[in-house]
Amino acid sequence: MSTSKILIVGSMAFDDLQFPMPVPDPSRPGETGDTFDDVVGGSATYASLAASCYAPVRIVAVVGDDFPKAMLEQLGRRRIDTTGVERAAGLTFRWKGRYRPDMVGRDTLDTQLNVFADFRPKLPDHYRDTEVVLLGNIHPALQLEVLDQVSSPQLVIADTMDFWISGEAETLAALLKRIDVLVINDEEARLLSGIHNIVRAAKDILTRGPDKLIIKRGEHGSLYFDDDGIFAAPALPLETVADPTGAGDSFAGGLVGYLACQGNARHTTMRHAIVHGTATASHCVQAVGTGGLANLELNHVEQRVKEIRELYYLGELP
Ligand code: AMP
Repeated sequence: MSTSKILIVGSMAFDDLQFPMPVPDPSRPGETGDTFDDVVGGSATYASLAASCYAPVRIVAVVGDDFPKAMLEQLGRRRIDTTGVERAAGLTFRWKGRYRPDMVGRDTLDTQLNVFADFRPKLPDHYRDTEVVLLGNIHPALQLEVLDQVSSPQLVIADTMDFWISGEAETLAALLKRIDVLVINDEEARLLSGIHNIVRAAKDILTRGPDKLIIKRGEHGSLYFDDDGIFAAPALPLETVADPTGAGDSFAGGLVGYLACQGNARHTTMRHAIVHGTATASHCVQAVGTGGLANLELNHVEQRVKEIRELYYLGELP
C-alpha cells in the first residue's frame, strides 16, 4: 500500500515563552532559563516536523522578512516541501504564553497575527492532489481556503483553539461540516459545546460535522470518540518536561503521519494513530521549542509507542 501525501497548513511563528521554573536552555548548553524570546514555533512548524518522521509533507504558511532561512532549510532536509510557504513583507506571527505552575495550563499573554492578517493561501499546483490534509491551528477561514484548493482530499483532520472558538464561531462551524477528524483539548471541547461533562461534550461536537473526535487532556492523555466507541490513551509519564509548547501540534503531526502510512482511518487504525501521536508529542515536550523534534526519527517514536503500550498492558492473572 502506498503512503498518502500529507498537506499541513498552520502558523509559523516566533514564540515568547515563560515557565514557572528554570528549564534547560537549548542555546546555552548546561545553562537554564525561565524566559525565552523569539523561539521558532508555530502549529505548522511543529506538526510538519512530527509528520515528516512518517512521510513527505507539504506545508502552507506565511512568514515575515524576519523568519530565519535556516529553519526553512532545516524543514527541507526532512522531506518537508516548503514551496507553499510565502515570505511576505512584515513581521512573522508572534505568540506570547506563560505556563502555570503545573506546566500544563497556560495563559496567552499576547497574539500578534502580523503577516497572517493579510494572508491568502495559494496552493502550489503540485500540492492539489494531496490525500491527507491537516488543518493545523490557524484562522478557520484560512483552513477553509486551503481545503477549497485541494482537489479530492481523502481524510481531513483539523485542530483549533480557544482563540478561534470564541472569536470566529461561525466560520469554525462551517469548517466543522467539512472535516473528518477534530482534535482539540478538553477546555476547548467544553468551550465549543457549552457542556462541561466531557463525554456529553464529545457527543454534541460529533453532531456538528466531524465523525471522529480526539480530546487531548495534557499529561492525562487523550480520549477518542467515534461511532464504534471510545478509546482512552494515557500520556507517557516523563521525568522531565522542558516545554509543552507544540505538544498538541506534534500529536496531530504524528497522528496524521501514521494515518497517511496506513491509508485508512478505521476505529482500530485511529487507536494506533493516537498512540503514535502521543509518542511523538512526548519527544516534543522534552526540549524548548522544536529541539525535541529536530532530529526525531521513526524508530525513536516506535520505541515510545512500545513504552506506552506497556503502560496499559494488564498482564495475565495468576
Ligand atoms: P500547541 O502547544 O500545540 O497548542 O501549539 C503551540 C503553537 O501554536 C505555538 O508555537 C504558537 O506559535 C502557535 N499558536 C498560538 N496561538 C495561535 C493562534 N491563535 N493561531 C495559530 N497558531 C497559534
